[in-house]
Amino acid sequence: MSYISNVISGCCPNCKKTKVFETNGNPFLFRMPKMNQECKVCNYSFHRETGFYFGAMYMSYALTVAEMVAVFVIGLILSLSFLQMFIGVVIVVLLLSTFNYKMSRLMWLNIFYKKDEE
Ligand SMILES: [Zn+2]
Repeated sequence: MSYISNVISGCCPNCKKTKVFETNGNPFLFRMPKMNQECKVCNYSFHRETGFYFGAMYMSYALTVAEMVAVFVIGLILSLSFLQMFIGVVIVVLLLSTFNYKMSRLMWLNIFYKKDEE
C-alpha cells in the first residue's frame, strides 16, 4: 500500500517530506516536469546512476497503452466511429504525456527503493 501512496503523492520514498518533482510541466506549453537532483531533507539521490530512468520508459509505455485501451472502450460504449476514437486517443495521450512522464519515473524510483540503502 505504501508503494501506491508514495507514487500518487510524489514524495521522496525515503523520508516522504519533499516532492520528487520541482515543477509539474505543461503539455500545452511543451514543458516537461523538472525533477530534483536529491531530497532537500534527507539527501536521498533521485538520480541514482546514469540511465537509471531508461527503464521508466516501459512504465510510461504501459500507462499509455492502458489509457489508449480505456479511451477505445469508452469509444465502443458510445459507438463512435474509428476516426473519432483515433482522434480521442491522440488527444488523451498528448494531454496526459506529462502525467505519464511523472508517474512512470515515480513508479520506477519506488520499485528500486530499499529502506536500508545509504
Ligand atoms: Zn527525503
